[in-house]
Amino acid sequence: MPLFDHHCHGVVTAPLERAAFEDLITESDWAAPEGTTHFDTQVGFAIRRYCAPVLGLPPFASPEAYLARRRELGAGASELLLRATGISDYGIETGHRGDEILDPAGMAVAGAARAHEIVRLERLAEELMLSGCAPTAFRDDFGRLLDERLQHAIGVKSIAAYRIGLDFDPARPSDAEVDAAVEAWSARIAAGEPARLDDPIVIRHLLWAAVDRACAIQFHIGYGDADVDLHRCSPLLLTEFLRRTRASGARVLLLHCYPFHREAGYLAQVFPHVYFDVGLAINYTGSRSVEVIAETLELAPFHKILFSSDAFGVAELFHLGALLFRRGLEQALDAFAERDGWPAAERQRVAELIAWRNAERVYGPPAAGAA
Ligand SMILES: [Zn+2]
Repeated sequence: MPLFDHHCHGVVTAPLERAAFEDLITESDWAAPEGTTHFDTQVGFAIRRYCAPVLGLPPFASPEAYLARRRELGAGASELLLRATGISDYGIETGHRGDEILDPAGMAVAGAARAHEIVRLERLAEELMLSGCAPTAFRDDFGRLLDERLQHAIGVKSIAAYRIGLDFDPARPSDAEVDAAVEAWSARIAAGEPARLDDPIVIRHLLWAAVDRACAIQFHIGYGDADVDLHRCSPLLLTEFLRRTRASGARVLLLHCYPFHREAGYLAQVFPHVYFDVGLAINYTGSRSVEVIAETLELAPFHKILFSSDAFGVAELFHLGALLFRRGLEQALDAFAERDGWPAAERQRVAELIAWRNAERVYGPPAAGAA
């Protein structure tokens, strides 16, 4: 069964020393405390159990042996791990550390799959400001730039959760409010502050620009790195925004969602334009991902759940994202069959919806904009 990984990032091609590798298998921004290792986690155990054999090592090879073999294979290690996933399509978000990782075209080659771009709204606005855009021209220029990028990209992503929290004002800001906020942002940049966009009015403007274009809009939800205030990342905080955008033609994709995946399932049931996944959480819950995946199948209609790995940096996270997802979905559907007699053909149909058909419906047919 093919998989449409609708939210992921490129892999690092440079050889990785142990510290750099460990940094990429945790959402922590810091090394494990002295004398401990990020390998002593669900994801660390899953790498040793499932990725080691792909690289020709026995299951549960030591982290040292694993990393030595990985370095020996070079870029070949990523190709082996990626090509064994059965992922047919990547939706690649390029806005985070984009110069260190493979771009969509590079990922298409490494993974022997189609790669589609997802544009990060906040990054696009920051690039525009850094290019010297006058504050008074920002609204027009941003709209034009977004239209241009959407000729190829299949959707956009917002990290409002990181920058302002999801408890933002759901109303569309007025033009005057946006112009004043951009003017103030521009002045901060001119005074030597980094261009990092954290102004709620400007971010709301970007979101409404995407709504006006009836885009597929991905939102970071829930679990992430130490930069996020998790208590401001519940998808329920978006409820009024979802009410206001229901009839816009935009589709809202709630990413990761853990530990709010049950709340996301509720929103996916009641709002016709809301979808969600538990990418990221699947990898980091490892042996327990079976239960997390089963929980996504509680309230949410089967036509509203998507697959993503949210892999970033290392091919292991794609490999495990796909493997654990397939296993969890199969076990959940088997349990329903045992309990309630779900026929095999219906189980297969539901699995296909979640694996790729829902993503294809949300983002359009795979030919559009594929690398
Ligand atoms: Zn991501």
